[in-house]
Formats: sequence, C-alpha cells, structure tokens
Amino acid sequence: MNSQDRKLRAVKLPKDWAPSGWRNLTALQQPTYPDAAALEGVLEELRALPPLVTSWEILALKQQLADAQEGKRFLLQGGDCAETFDACTPDVISNRLKVLLQMSLVLVHGMRKPVVRVGRFAGQYAKPRSADLETIDGVSLPSYRGDLVNAPEFTEAARVPDPRRMIKGHARSAMTMNFVRSLIDGGFADLHHPEYWNLGWVGHSPLADEYRHMVAAIGDAVRFMETLSGQEVHNLNRVDFYTSHEALLLPYEESQTRQVPRHWGWFNLSTHYPWIGMRTAALDGAHTEYFRGIRNPIAVKVGPSVEPDQLLKLMDVLNPEDEPGRLTFIHRMGARAIAEKLPPLLNAVQRDGRRVLWVCDPMHGNTEATSNGYKTRRFRNIRSELEDAFELHAAAGTRLGGVHLELTGEDVTECLGGARELTESDLERAYHSTVDPRLNYEQALEVAMLIVRKQAQIGAPSKA
Ligand code: PEP
Ligand code: MN
Repeated sequence: MNSQDRKLRAVKLPKDWAPSGWRNLTALQQPTYPDAAALEGVLEELRALPPLVTSWEILALKQQLADAQEGKRFLLQGGDCAETFDACTPDVISNRLKVLLQMSLVLVHGMRKPVVRVGRFAGQYAKPRSADLETIDGVSLPSYRGDLVNAPEFTEAARVPDPRRMIKGHARSAMTMNFVRSLIDGGFADLHHPEYWNLGWVGHSPLADEYRHMVAAIGDAVRFMETLSGQEVHNLNRVDFYTSHEALLLPYEESQTRQVPRHWGWFNLSTHYPWIGMRTAALDGAHTEYFRGIRNPIAVKVGPSVEPDQLLKLMDVLNPEDEPGRLTFIHRMGARAIAEKLPPLLNAVQRDGRRVLWVCDPMHGNTEATSNGYKTRRFRNIRSELEDAFELHAAAGTRLGGVHLELTGEDVTECLGGARELTESDLERAYHSTVDPRLNYEQALEVAMLIVRKQAQIGAPSKA
C-alpha cells in the first residue's frame, strides 16, 4: 500500500456494490444486441484482455485533481465529440496532441500554475442520442450510437448493434494510448522544442504571432535557468497525459472493471477519468450505480435542468467520504442559461462545504442547426459562456478549476466565428464530425488565450 493509499484507508469500499450491480437498474442509452450469446462471448474476451491504464496512474491523476480543487492546478480536458475507428491514424492522434500541448503551454504561462492534461480520447467511442430512431425521407433506422456500438452509414445493416465492435474499440483505444505514450516518452513534449508541436496549416493564423512571442519568452526563461545553474533543467521533456471518455456503454465498462494486486477496491482500467453524460446522470440510474463503486476520479455532466438538491444527493452517492479529487461537476448550461442556472448550484455546494472540482463545458449547451443543415456552435456563445462561468464562480466564492472542450488538430470548419470569422458557407468546406461540431486548431488556441485573459481580469477568488 503506498502512502496516498494509506491516507485514503478511511475511504471505505462502497456497500453492496459489484461491477455488474447496475444491471438491476434502468440503464438508459444502451443498445439492444440481437444475439445475447455473441454479446456474452465478446464480454468474456474483453474481461481477459490487458487493461489500458493502471491503478497507479489513476491515483496520481486523482491527486492532481485534488490539487485543482484547491486552485493549485487547472484542468484542460479536450478532444473529439466522438472518436471514430477510421480516424485512429498517426496524423489525427499527433495533431490532437499538439493542440492540447500548445493550449496547455498558453495556460501554464498565463495562469502561472501547472495544467492537468486530459484527452477526450482512447475510448471516446460511445454516444448518447436524443432520439432512438433517425428518420430520412420517411425511412426510420436506429440512431448511430458511436463506433463502439454501430456504424454511421444510413443502412439497416450498419445500424445493427454489433458486440465485436467493443473488441475493436478496445484495440483502437490501446493503439491510441500506445502512440500517445510513445510520442511523449520520446521527447515530443520537450519544452526545449515547442516547434515540434506546430501544425503546418497555421502559419498564417491571426493568433500565430501572439503564440510565437509566448514560446520565445518561455525558451528564453529555460535557457536563462540553464545558463544560471550550469545544467539542463530536468523534467521539461516529459509531461503527464491522461485519458477520459463518457462511460456510457455499461457492459463494456463492466468488462474493464478490475481489482489489482497492490490497491484495494475496483478500478475502471479502460480510462483514467470516466464521466457520466447529462442524459444518464439520474440519481437512481444504472450509470450512477456503476460509478459509485469504482475508485477512479469521476465527473458528472450537469445541465440546466439539474436542481441544487439533486446535485447534493449525487455527492452523497458518488463521494460519500468527501474524498479529495474524487468528484468533478462539468456544467454545460449554454450561454443563455448559465447566469440563471449556475449560481443556485454553486451556492448550494458552497453552503454544503464538501469539495468538488468545477469545470465548464461551454460546448454542449450551445449547439444549434444552421439554415444549410449543419449542426454547429458559435464561437461567441462558447466565449460568452466561458467568461460568464469565471464571473459567476468569482461572485459565488467558488473556483472554476478547468475546461472541457470538443476540439481537433485538423483544419475543420465546424464551429462558426473565431479569429478567422468562419461563416455558414465555410461549414461546407471541411465538416467532418460524425456527431458534434469541434473547435479547430485556431479556435482552440483562441479559447486558451481568452481563458488566460479572463482569469487575469477576475483574479484569484479569496476562498475555495
Ligand atoms: C458529450 O460530451 O459529447 C455529450 C454528449 O455531452 P452531454 O452529456 O453534456 O450532453
Ligand atoms: Mn459532444
């Protein structure tokens, strides 16, 4: 037992819990597999495969999130809305990593605190849908639920849930993890060479100059330290990177829930930091039941219909011992609703006194459809929700400890506005997302810069 574990010995194993206990409750957003025997065979295979992450990493992340709760770190969580099996390619993976590294550099430099880097990747393959059926020209088929479940093509065969996709999803997640780990271990994140992270197509970005100045300033600081001390500054070539996904498809998550030799309790070893989506966060639902028993740090998406009392009850169930780093609430209210809906929640949790990490997702409350039929988000709404979040937390005496974003390192045109002022007609040029619109590289970097500006303007709140 390590020292962190000894400290947490007071945290008890949840009572009457088993990895399969969720099966006794209503599980929303689950596919119906046509062949029960095939499903069972797949789950047996999945239970025997090696895990994707380790309990040591999971507990290290939990400690970093505990620091973020105290304002000593800031969480940057981002990636695709839905990863796809086809996009498990070297370019997509390394470009996404580059954007996240650059954003974290902007945040570290501007906020003067370490950033906890968490990707929405290596397992973000299952999607909740508002409707069970999709209808086109009078034909209705089951909705696409992410590559872990079925395929996006609008044919009857493609939409049948196929359990073998879980094996493929596990393998794709492992390949993604493997490549990310190798890049980072190989020096890709070395602060002596931030130019490794540049993406070719951004040479002419309106933000490029500001970014380059900042990188130059960091380079100077590093060289100054090295000259002064006469030795290399260590640990600049390695950063921690963690993974997260919406743990939606419960049979899959159950199959990756394990006990390990050196830590007590159960861990979901498919990811470091799973979250419960807004549509499946009912107090008496199967997802809440599953999540209460795992030792990972966990997050819950909180939408505008959540009442203060419900949030406190979720805290009772999901973090009964008030363990540091355990519970994150990701609010996603929408630019229009945040000023009305967020303060009552912040005040209730503040009065209650137990700890959570508050994170803002300025994407999911701001989705709209354009006249030419694209699902999009306006940069100005994303910005407005994020800026309001900082203000509202400051006013409530709570702390905004991180952001949760949908973004990609590819040159997509999915969200409107930003420094290049993308318009509705630009969306046709490079719209690739199978589900929700993502920030492209420039827009993502702009978000990082505006976070820094807003934080500086607000200043550090007086109490947590
Ligand atoms: C998502 O994160 O892609 C998502 C569906 O979010 P939410 O559960 O907040 O709607
Ligand atoms: Mn999404």
